[in-house]
Amino acid sequence: MRRVFNFGAGPAVLPEEVLEQARDELIDLRGTGMSVMEMSHRDPGFTAIAHQAESDLRELMNIPPNYKVLFLQGGAQAQFALVPLNLLGKKTRADYINTGHWSKRAIAEAKRFCTVNIAASSESNNFTTVPAQDEWSLSAGAAYVHYTPNETIGGLEFPWVPETGDVPLVADMSSTILSRPLDVSHFGVIYAGAQKNLGPAGLTVVIVREDLLSYARPEVPSVFNYRLQADEGSMYNTPPTFAWYLAGLVFNWLKRTGGLMRMAEINRRKADKLYACIDGSGGFYRNPVDPKCRSWMNVPFSIADGSLDQAFLQEARVAGLVQLKGHRSVGGMRASIYNAMPEEGCRHARAVYAALP
Ligand code: PMP
Repeated sequence: MRRVFNFGAGPAVLPEEVLEQARDELIDLRGTGMSVMEMSHRDPGFTAIAHQAESDLRELMNIPPNYKVLFLQGGAQAQFALVPLNLLGKKTRADYINTGHWSKRAIAEAKRFCTVNIAASSESNNFTTVPAQDEWSLSAGAAYVHYTPNETIGGLEFPWVPETGDVPLVADMSSTILSRPLDVSHFGVIYAGAQKNLGPAGLTVVIVREDLLSYARPEVPSVFNYRLQADEGSMYNTPPTFAWYLAGLVFNWLKRTGGLMRMAEINRRKADKLYACIDGSGGFYRNPVDPKCRSWMNVPFSIADGSLDQAFLQEARVAGLVQLKGHRSVGGMRASIYNAMPEEGCRHARAVYAALP
């Protein structure tokens, strides 16, 4: 049993059962006499693990057959460049929705490759709500529309999926993937860095609709060419084998836990506990986000008297709540409560928060 609850935003807590299994298999994977880290990615032992992970992810997310699932490296920020490089084709324009820190990063990177139209932004209300669909001005001839369903730093989450007609919708789901059921068929591309809800850092999952595989610019590096990697089963180069294996263990754990419907129920309850505590603190704690758009995964908050931050973090640490410090760009606190955070962690956090004022 672990002695702390880890609220880190990523790399983040992993299910204890998964870590125990990885530990038990670390030196001798299932009688092979070697660690998964020591095995060729072309070894049938590893390809079986890789295929099982993909098929479990497909089952969990109900991914339609006309989508490819890629297991790549580079993290979500590599995708900020690789999305335009793979999807623009002959087009020169893409639409972006700005809802905070990660949207801005994605926009800045895309501007290196194309004309970016900010089709909607919630900057004017300091990213406390998501821009309503009827305020979006999508441009004619955009190659795709990019948005960030969950802003990990601001704790702002879309409670609805945007409608973009025939223009492919691209989502950076790094901090919300697998937190609830999703209609994948609504999306052109979904990508996510693994280190929050999927597994360890080093792996990036890209889910891409097959008809979008023909638009790569010639200059896209081969290892990041969606079509090439789709054709090669993500093994054009050596994939991050250990991270892929571990993500597979996480997918299997999710299936055993009851899948995404079950996860959504638990996640909603977990988030509700923390927001109720913040809202019920008589102004001691604050979260400025419109309650309709509050993230289920990242709960940022501040203490009205900011001079108490250090004391809060110290008391929390003593009580077994760690990695609660807010992102360095905004300060304050943030409780990230991904799938692997047990409900007990949120109950305990609520009790600790409530006792402090
Ligand atoms: N997008 C989102 C929504 C994120 O939360 C993060 C990381 N916190 C990133 C992108 C950047 O991910 P990476 O460090 O894997 O490039």
